[in-house]
Amino acid sequence: MEAAQMRRVIMAGIVGDAFGVPVEFKTRDSYHVSSMLADGTWEQPSGSWSDDTAMTLALMENLTSDGNYNDLFEKFQDFMMTGAYMAQHETFDIGQTCVHAIRNWAINHVTPTECGDASEFANGNGALMRLAPLALVLADETNQARRLQLTRDYTTLTHRHPRAILGSVLYLEIMHAMLNGQAISAAVANLTTNLKPALTPDVLAEWPYYAACLTPTFGQTSRDDIKASGYVVDTFEAALWSVTQARSLKAAIVLAANLGGDTDTVATITASLAAVRFPNDPVPWEDELMQPTYLASIIDPFVTKFSRTK
Ligand SMILES: [Mg+2]
Repeated sequence: MEAAQMRRVIMAGIVGDAFGVPVEFKTRDSYHVSSMLADGTWEQPSGSWSDDTAMTLALMENLTSDGNYNDLFEKFQDFMMTGAYMAQHETFDIGQTCVHAIRNWAINHVTPTECGDASEFANGNGALMRLAPLALVLADETNQARRLQLTRDYTTLTHRHPRAILGSVLYLEIMHAMLNGQAISAAVANLTTNLKPALTPDVLAEWPYYAACLTPTFGQTSRDDIKASGYVVDTFEAALWSVTQARSLKAAIVLAANLGGDTDTVATITASLAAVRFPNDPVPWEDELMQPTYLASIIDPFVTKFSRTK
């Protein structure tokens, strides 16, 4: 994957997160956001990112340094305890399932890939929100079994229920197809033949939860029927819908952040996918992010390591 595109996808994801932070948890249509705002839900300065980006940055640094899962958990712990990877060194939000997993690792010394909660009630979007760098690293990986295993393992660090695993797999496999030249409609349509037969039985059993958004007519779904909660299925659906509906990267981010609910995560996943769908669009609001030098200090070495010049 080419360096400039890799950097764009990462930056778009961070912009999506920061764009959604001030309106997180708001009720749909009780507000309209069309620029990078300050204050709001978390009373942060304009351009502040949240846990989504912090854990994404931790993953990027881990991948760049060829770190193992224990190294990654150490970074997650630094984020939780000391505000590492945050713009102002303050962790203003972290999901309970992630907290539970980090404690499992730090206090109970559980094996990393078994730290995630396996309960059906722990199917939030906390793994989905941080996996874009893995999709980029796997862009040129032709071995599907290897892609699926890595996606599963990185997800289970915090989320071990097969529904959360399938959410990550769908996200990364769609991303993989698009990064290799498929249109989003084809990428989604091909999942049934290309991905379904390769899934393990536990993950395959969760397919019906996502089936509605994988149909060819999903893009025509009414906005009223799109939930945008922190439940992994809702988040994935809302992001896929936003990317499908929009005609530009900027429009996709605005559409996603105005759905209400878990706006930062829906917008970050939307933006990551939309950056791939609209490869010639500039990343809007990129120069309004906080701490650009700090962001570059993690993103640049990652891009240098994993991109290829064509
Ligand atoms: Mg967040």
